[in-house]
Amino acid sequence: MICYVLRFFIFYARRSRSPLFVQTKEQLAIPEQKIMHEVSLMEQTLEIAIAYAQEQNATRIHHLKMQIGEISGVVPDALNFAFDVVTRGTIAEGATLKIEMVSILCHCPDCDRNFHPVDTYIYECPDCQHLSAKIVSGREIELSSLEVS
Ligand SMILES: [Zn+2]
Repeated sequence: MICYVLRFFIFYARRSRSPLFVQTKEQLAIPEQKIMHEVSLMEQTLEIAIAYAQEQNATRIHHLKMQIGEISGVVPDALNFAFDVVTRGTIAEGATLKIEMVSILCHCPDCDRNFHPVDTYIYECPDCQHLSAKIVSGREIELSSLEVS
């Protein structure tokens, strides 16, 4: 599985004894047509999270937040299960995982507006009935934030 960083922002990080809130916006891009394996995905996510924590000189990860697109192919329940398994024995053991689902949004070039398709396979604009191939959101697999100390 290929995983690469597309975006990287740290909006807020302060040095103190209280937990840090790190906004990461890590996007994990998985090639389409590949069968998603949540354990392997979670292992890669955790690897990135630990790297962030170490950058902040943190020794614990308390909370992770991920954004998962509706058509990303990731099963949230499987991801939760994988999280419990892969965090064992790491600095993220006992941490909580929040999964935020991102719904699919397409863009209609004719109407120049975004729409939420009724069908998750055929993206038809509700106004002009033209089919759209431009997906604005819904494919996300992102580590969006971390809480460390
Ligand atoms: Zn349209």
